[in-house]
Amino acid sequence: MSEIKIHIFHIGKVCVAPELPFGGEHCSALKASGVLDRKSKRLWLPVSAYLIECAHGNVLFDCGWHRDMSPHGVFERRAQIRSLGSLPLYFTNQVVVESSAAIDEQLAARGVAPVDWDAVLLSHLDCDHANGLKLVADAKKILVSKDELRFAENGSPVNRIRYNADWWRGTKMQTFDWNGLIGSAGRSYDVFGDGMLVMVNIPGHSKGLCALRITGEDGRLRRQRLREKIMGADAALRHRRRPRGAEKVARVDQGTESGAELRCVHRQPRFRCQTGRDYIIKE
Ligand SMILES: [Zn+2]
Repeated sequence: MSEIKIHIFHIGKVCVAPELPFGGEHCSALKASGVLDRKSKRLWLPVSAYLIECAHGNVLFDCGWHRDMSPHGVFERRAQIRSLGSLPLYFTNQVVVESSAAIDEQLAARGVAPVDWDAVLLSHLDCDHANGLKLVADAKKILVSKDELRFAENGSPVNRIRYNADWWRGTKMQTFDWNGLIGSAGRSYDVFGDGMLVMVNIPGHSKGLCALRITGEDGRLRRQRLREKIMGADAALRHRRRPRGAEKVARVDQGTESGAELRCVHRQPRFRCQTGRDYIIKE
């Protein structure tokens, strides 16, 4: 009997305007940036990444922040402007990555060495998901949807601020084409061809944004816990009839599960991920 084990990391925290996670799909970039609002309105929210230990090895879902955002484990303005590559992006996101909280540091603490990083799957290319990619660049495989990379590099004024190719430039990141029809958008990618890990396109917040569907054979109770407490699932997927067995839709962008719209990134304050815990799906 094999297991799928899911470990949740918090890779530091980010200070954002409430409109960024909860402003809805049609909230303007200016409003979402929070530059027009008082700082006291802002929220500190954790940023998450996931380690999935399964028959295909150690698979990471997103990376969180690079250590260079917070070289000394505290808020560091200059470092963040340099790492993000733009002042407006810095005004939108102020970050603290506490000591030992970067993704490679947390993996090392669990005894997962670079040689054991089998794959990195990127939900999308926003800074809080891809800024830390170079910390895990030794992974055997790094994947993002072709739609997402095209979107990130489409040259629009907003995206020129929103994305910084330096986060992935020089890595072995590859793109994938959709090879399945799962999800409300009818576009998915079965990562290993056996249905265990399927990237499900949930466009809106970004064009190539993906949830990750994790499927085993058992562990319904744990699936429920995951679905309700850890990851926001796309509504259309959540309410769809599921085949038997443990199946989970992991949205990185916290969404409808906690009452927010399907927009961005950051966790709602009352929504408590239980980091440091393992969730196990028996197979
Ligand atoms: Zn995002």
